[in-house]
Amino acid sequence: MYLVDEENHIIHDMSFTKYECQIKKIPEDKKRKIHTLDQVKRMVDTNHRPQYNGCQWCMPEYHIFDITKIFS
Ligand SMILES: [Zn+2]
Repeated sequence: MYLVDEENHIIHDMSFTKYECQIKKIPEDKKRKIHTLDQVKRMVDTNHRPQYNGCQWCMPEYHIFDITKIFS
């Protein structure tokens, strides 16, 4: 099971969530659950709008490092 943070467009893997994921800080109405990795893969695809990102803590394989954020 995967937890989608609709506010920040981050996907967490609920089996591996860590303290750093700050799951508890996601407002209830911004949480969405998805069940398949296929769906996760579609959502992190660069063609998907909005494009989601894997959580750097629990889904590092799907985390895309956004270099633009460093300079903004
Ligand atoms: Zn996470």
